[in-house]
Amino acid sequence: MRGPAGEEGSRAICRGCGELVSPTARTCPHCSRSVTVDLRVRTPIEGPRERYPEAWTLAGNGPPSPSFLDGQRPLTERGSVLLRGLTRAEALDHEALLTAARIDCDVFAGALADATGPVSSDP
Ligand SMILES: [Zn+2]
Repeated sequence: MRGPAGEEGSRAICRGCGELVSPTARTCPHCSRSVTVDLRVRTPIEGPRERYPEAWTLAGNGPPSPSFLDGQRPLTERGSVLLRGLTRAEALDHEALLTAARIDCDVFAGALADATGPVSSDP
């Protein structure tokens, strides 16, 4: 199940139907399932002094990033959603921004499977 060389790194597979989905798609073109992803906090920032500058950085990225106030709470909690409903391409962009700001987050793929990995749609 590998696409043309060089493309599999940027594409993902829909868990609903197993077809390749463009990284900028919000819904699967084959089965219409939502394929947006979330960015979640992996390492919480507990100290307010450390958290404030990170929350400002986050807010400075603009929508859909949370505002300074809204960003405070998720940053304290492991696994909480910082950004919701992104395309895979947007999620990777924001992940890079957050990583540069030393906010440790990961992409919760939801309905998407990595095109380079095995597809496990069986129950
Ligand atoms: Zn699909």
